[in-house]
Amino acid sequence: MRHALITGGSRGIGRAICEELARGGANVVLCYAGRAEAAQETVTACEDLGAKALAVQCNVADEAQVKALMDAAVKEFGRIDILVNNAGVTRDGLVMMMKEADFDAVIDTNLKGTFLCMKAVSRIMMKQRYGRIVNLSSVVGLRGNAGQVNYAASKAGVVGMTKSLAKELASRGVTVNAVAPGFIETDMTAAMPQAAKDAMMPTIPMQRLGAPEDVAKAVAFLASLLRNIFGLGSLLAFPGSMCGALLCGLVYWKTRNLPATLAGEVFGTGIIGGLAAYPVAVLFMNVSAAAFYAYVVPFLVSTVGGSILAGILVFTLQKSGALKSMRAALEH
Ligand code: NDP
Repeated sequence: MRHALITGGSRGIGRAICEELARGGANVVLCYAGRAEAAQETVTACEDLGAKALAVQCNVADEAQVKALMDAAVKEFGRIDILVNNAGVTRDGLVMMMKEADFDAVIDTNLKGTFLCMKAVSRIMMKQRYGRIVNLSSVVGLRGNAGQVNYAASKAGVVGMTKSLAKELASRGVTVNAVAPGFIETDMTAAMPQAAKDAMMPTIPMQRLGAPEDVAKAVAFLASLLRNIFGLGSLLAFPGSMCGALLCGLVYWKTRNLPATLAGEVFGTGIIGGLAAYPVAVLFMNVSAAAFYAYVVPFLVSTVGGSILAGILVFTLQKSGALKSMRAALEH
């Protein structure tokens, strides 16, 4: 079970992301700026999908509030596996007319808010040695758009921060990615003047605005990268299982003593699993998953598998008479 924190989850793209992650089996903490009722609707939608969900009011541009948000999420679920920095605002206007306050408001929420949330979650995810951070940039941050210098600057900044933090955290099992959607049908684009929408339409090959669900699927994909710990875990569990099975079979063959066989089993999986697989596993997954795949899985596989293999071996050797002659040879 994964635990996700989505900023700006009360409406639009943020709500679609909450629902998509809940559908994928994650529990959700979402924050919102002021629309408590809308946030509660997202909570109910996630709960209907079988997830636990919690809405917290938080201005992402305020460091103390961001800290309280992270604390609330950790208190609720014990960890944060996924952070989606989605909260965003626009204050459009041509540069000559743009008020300083409008420039600051957009930079504060979109850029500084993303920075503050990434800063706060980094420590948590590094400790877990697992994390997925997905930031919402925009096509406007890559291409620019008349009337949106503040918004374009904030979203271009998000791309730079994403690439930089990805380099800082990669070795700790934390990935940092961004999506840069085109125009999506939400309250944000509903506020755009019709003339601006008409001017934008010829630049969209599909000749329509995107849906929040389209973005949510891309975010969910990036939030789940390398989540296939089952495959990876099985791979890491293999050496431990093999060594445990071999030792188990050998001790049983030599002693016919079950406690000694079990001790050989624990020693075999423990030594290989503990000294080889665990340090590798912990680079890719959290400590409990690493311990599970490095110790528990090899132990079970080699106990069950080893017993069956040893049984087949002993039975075959006994049937062919080889066991008798091998024992006789060993006794001399
Ligand atoms: P909406 O305006 O529909 O929703 C914005 C969300 O952000 C709301 O949940 C709002 O909370 C929350 N929010 C706003 N300010 C703050 C703040 N200071 N602290 C915490 N939460 C805040 O936006 P969209 O769904 O359209 O956009 C979501 C993200 O996607 C934004 O980052 C946007 O820039 C980006 N994006 C959008 C595109 C589009 O075409 N719509 C295209 C490309 C990127 P509340 O409901 O309480 O106000």
